[in-house]
Amino acid sequence: MTHNTLIVSNWKMNLNFLDAKKLLKNICKIKFDTTKTLHVICPQNLLLPLLNEKFKDGNYKIGSQDFHHKINGPFTGDTSIELLKNFRCDYSIIGHSERREYHAETNKIINQKLKLALENSVSPILCVGESLKQRKEKTYSEFIENQIQECVDGNMNELVIAYEPIWSIGTGIIPSLGEIEEVINKINLFVQRKKVKKFKVIYGGSVSANNFKKIMSLKNCKGVLIGGSSLKIDQMNKILTFC
Ligand code: PEP
Repeated sequence: MTHNTLIVSNWKMNLNFLDAKKLLKNICKIKFDTTKTLHVICPQNLLLPLLNEKFKDGNYKIGSQDFHHKINGPFTGDTSIELLKNFRCDYSIIGHSERREYHAETNKIINQKLKLALENSVSPILCVGESLKQRKEKTYSEFIENQIQECVDGNMNELVIAYEPIWSIGTGIIPSLGEIEEVINKINLFVQRKKVKKFKVIYGGSVSANNFKKIMSLKNCKGVLIGGSSLKIDQMNKILTFC
């Protein structure tokens, strides 16, 4: 938590082995101030050995996109946090809206995942954010407050919260700076009420080299979670070298 800026690359279910290798090779060449900026890459699980191999000469940390909420057991197709730790996953995205939508993840399960992550020294990156309907109906604050209320416990002492409005993910549409600032300030209040000792709030949703500087000009925005642009070397080059 000592860096000024946190950049989380969410590769989602993209890149075959060769394309990932090529992208990683180029990412490792990007020079940026690693004392100020932390770059976490979250690939598909089967790409983890590749990132591990490059880990020592790469200016990044490894994260997972998800894991099962129990430590092990009869959960066919799922991945345990223990195994992810063996592949040096020090971070994990938890409760991404795509997991909530396509895998019916509830706040209760997300709460269990957050606890399991912290017990296993994995830094959780909790995603929260409203749908377009909630934004239009102006119920987004209550919705996000409830997500935090149900997902976060007071004894969680270290947390990254990514504000990701669902209507901005993968659409190229981003909220105005004022809208981002308003929600980030509210998230700060909600998490403070839960008495979480150390936390930071980042923004995610259609982040690109074009809007990165503006987003990072917000005082309370401590970094970004990047999907689509994280797969493009020219975009990552501009973003990381600006940091
Ligand atoms: C995401 O994957 O959480 C995301 C923000 O994606 P994108 O940057 O493509 O909107």
